[in-house]
Amino acid sequence: MDRPGLPSALEHFEDIVEQGSGRDLTFFVDYDGTLVGLTMRPELAVMPEDARALLASLAERHLVCVLSGRGLDDLRGLVGLDSVYYAANHGHEVEGPWGSPIHLRLGCEFRAALSAAAQELQQQLARIEGLIIESKGFSVAVHYRLVRPSQRGTVEAAVKKVAGHYDEIRLRPGKLVYEFRPATEWDKGKALLWLLERLDLAPGEVFPICLGDDLTDEDAFAAVDGWGATIVVGEARAVTRANYWLPGPREVADFLALFVQPVACKSSPGG
Ligand SMILES: [Mg+2]
Repeated sequence: MDRPGLPSALEHFEDIVEQGSGRDLTFFVDYDGTLVGLTMRPELAVMPEDARALLASLAERHLVCVLSGRGLDDLRGLVGLDSVYYAANHGHEVEGPWGSPIHLRLGCEFRAALSAAAQELQQQLARIEGLIIESKGFSVAVHYRLVRPSQRGTVEAAVKKVAGHYDEIRLRPGKLVYEFRPATEWDKGKALLWLLERLDLAPGEVFPICLGDDLTDEDAFAAVDGWGATIVVGEARAVTRANYWLPGPREVADFLALFVQPVACKSSPGG
């Protein structure tokens, strides 16, 4: 695996804690490719029990938000915790922990166009073996990981054509996936800032630590540029706004585990 020219977040854990000293650490963590490994089909990305326990421990100490392109019900079902925040559908659906007043649904007026586009894609690409078209309410994902390379050009052409039919839809590429999203300026970064503002947490009070592997995570990285820690996970990509790097979900777990151990609690008496 190519390592980008970035320092390892694990090796620089102390520096990251130092940067955040005097502020509340908050965690914004992507799901696929970050908390769990990428899988051939989205439904196979099941969260290991130890990762769930770790996230639960982290959420006892800090604000934890899982930011994902998945739909809210899907994401919540996979993570299975009611003590964390969820920002699903790239931040278009935000929900707080159990009992929290945090609740956002953005882009409801785009759902009809997204549903129509999904149907159009189903019709045009019905014969493409391995293609998965996932309707997520506030977005549509066209996964082509299992599609033969020789057929991927056909998929790309159809996706671009269908996207062109709807002014309400924006097409965004991801890792072996095309995403149809509402043509709003909303993204994971805007959702992150919205959540902090709703919780009355000013930038001087919190230190966001963002982890993600995909292009959409760059929006979250950009949102905290200069006042948070940003960690790109997985293979190198040419351009990233991240300050740090981790190879994969196992190292993400190792990194997060450091924050639930006493060593991270420097402010404790005698610590
Ligand atoms: Mg991801």
